[in-house]
Amino acid sequence: MSRIVIIGAGIVGLSVARAALKRGHDVIVLEQGPAPNPQAASFDNHRMIRYPYGSAAGYTRMVTEAFSAWDRLWSDLGTAHFENTGAIAISLEAGDYAQKTLDTFKAVGLPHEVLSRDGVEALCPHLSLPAHAWGVVSFPGGPLFAGRIVTELAQWVRDHGGIIEHDCRVARVDLETGIAVRADASEVAGDLLLVAAGAWLPALLPERYGKASVYRQGLCYVEPPAQYEQSWREAPAIAAIGDHTGYTLPDRRGAGLKIGYSAHRRLARPETDGFGSDLESESRAILGAFKPYFRDFEAYRPTRIQVGYYVLDASRRFEVVQTGRGLVVTNCDGQMFKFGPLLGERILGMFAGEQSASDLAHWAAGY
Ligand SMILES: Cc1cc2nc3c(=O)[nH]c(=O)nc-3n(C[C@H](O)[C@H](O)[C@H](O)COP(=O)(O)OP(=O)(O)OC[C@H]3O[C@@H](n4cnc5c(N)ncnc54)[C@H](O)[C@@H]3O)c2cc1C
Repeated sequence: MSRIVIIGAGIVGLSVARAALKRGHDVIVLEQGPAPNPQAASFDNHRMIRYPYGSAAGYTRMVTEAFSAWDRLWSDLGTAHFENTGAIAISLEAGDYAQKTLDTFKAVGLPHEVLSRDGVEALCPHLSLPAHAWGVVSFPGGPLFAGRIVTELAQWVRDHGGIIEHDCRVARVDLETGIAVRADASEVAGDLLLVAAGAWLPALLPERYGKASVYRQGLCYVEPPAQYEQSWREAPAIAAIGDHTGYTLPDRRGAGLKIGYSAHRRLARPETDGFGSDLESESRAILGAFKPYFRDFEAYRPTRIQVGYYVLDASRRFEVVQTGRGLVVTNCDGQMFKFGPLLGERILGMFAGEQSASDLAHWAAGY
């Protein structure tokens, strides 16, 4: 039996904690806020899991593995916090995200359906698309109810003997020796020290990650016009409209309809820029991108902005780096939630010698 020390009670840290407990290890999770922390990237009403992934064939294939890992989590929790609405990518021009997705689906042999513009509008009557638009739909896909997942996962970890120290900020780490130093200067040593600090990683390890690009992203919850409430609820999650007009998550299980615009993000740091938002201006910036495509656009009523932060590297590849007893997970981008439980299992597989750290890093990078 080994001792696994984990910094961060987001989806990555908690998934590693669960995988470690299932293999009989001692687990200590150190979390600077409440556990789970509503400011963590992992905390929102929903996050999307979907096959449409542009030209990223490795990550497209990984989604199948991810669904199996979620199924194992659902059986531990006794509930599936997921709705299989399907996910659609909508093409507006040659070579865009949907086109790349379709090419990838064909290359990896993934089942899908291609819809004409009229077919997309029949499925999504709240959309009004140009005549040349088309869509590609795949199942399974849809909302993972993120806040409920991390809340129940944290409870599962506690119920199975894991220790979660909340309101416990780690001030320093020594990756080589696996030692984490709490803000009160007390130390805890792990045979494996997992750093899953999300957007706070540059603050924790400034020498190594001080220059990492941390982005702030706001997502907008909206009430749609009454005549489209039901169609929004029943439609697939939208993974992309064209190349730059973001994504939507349907209002299932009371989670609300949420709209994201991928270009609406900026370099910022959670510890200095905070979590505030001006609903009027920020909702305008997010929703404005959808004006050409939402029927009765003016009738949408923004209700709140959810602010989150993540590290995004130009490679768009997750990074899992081993140094001595330390393992750092970063570059989680706006993408890691769906892979959290799978990554947790893989990390413990690596720790047990089933896979080398370099093979794990290669796999996590989506090759
Ligand atoms: C707006 C937004 C939309 C997204 N949409 C999707 C999506 O649709 N689908 C998808 O798959 N992914 C999505 N993502 C990405 C996904 O949410 C993240 O990649 C994932 O949640 C990262 O998990 P994590 O555990 O690494 O980090 P986090 O969830 O951020 O957890 C890190 C934890 O570490 C704690 N911590 C940090 N520093 C310290 C310290 N020094 N001491 C103690 N504790 C510390 C923090 O308090 C936090 O709780 C989105 C992200 C954002 C922000």
